[in-house]
Amino acid sequence: MAEKRKAIFLDKDGTIIPDVPYNVNPDLISLADGVVEGLKLLQQAGYVFVVISNQAGVARGHFPLNALENVKQKIDFLLNSEGIEIEKYYFCPHHPEGKVAEYSKVCDCRKPMPGMILQAIKDLEILPPQSWMIGDILNDVEAGNRAGCRTVLINNGNETEWIETSFRTPTYKAANFLSAAQFIVSNPFESNFLNDKKLAAL
Ligand SMILES: [Mg+2]
Ligand SMILES: [Zn+2]
Repeated sequence: MAEKRKAIFLDKDGTIIPDVPYNVNPDLISLADGVVEGLKLLQQAGYVFVVISNQAGVARGHFPLNALENVKQKIDFLLNSEGIEIEKYYFCPHHPEGKVAEYSKVCDCRKPMPGMILQAIKDLEILPPQSWMIGDILNDVEAGNRAGCRTVLINNGNETEWIETSFRTPTYKAANFLSAAQFIVSNPFESNFLNDKKLAAL
């Protein structure tokens, strides 16, 4: 039986690429500062990469679900040329107040819920306590914590509400992607949010 692996779960918009709201045009997609260097560090440390992304633009009717194929292809193109591979992409196309009926609903995959991460953990045989979620808002942090991973918030100004409950507390706040990666590779010890916080205290 294959050994289970450790993963970095990556938010997409505002984390690995600059956030252009509801954009699916590949020409407007570029990598954020420090992402190549950071992912190389993490790859050397043995992590696999999984993108975990809310795409409410589908439910809101801004673009069809299959437009995300071009987005994936462009990100893969940019990263593969640096020797970096994304293992898999998970998108939540839902929103409770969308206008496309099929996708307009409450779901358990839209972050801050952990559904996409839990699915990835199952699909890809990932060990949650050795894995991390990196994102630019506290909904990413909450999803990662709820899945039993550790979490890094890239504090780049994209979080504006700062609703800070126990589940929304990151293991670390980083100024940029590279310092997030540097923190993770220097804190490899197996742990998880629930142990760290002592479940009873929640
Ligand atoms: Mg984001
Ligand atoms: Zn969903």
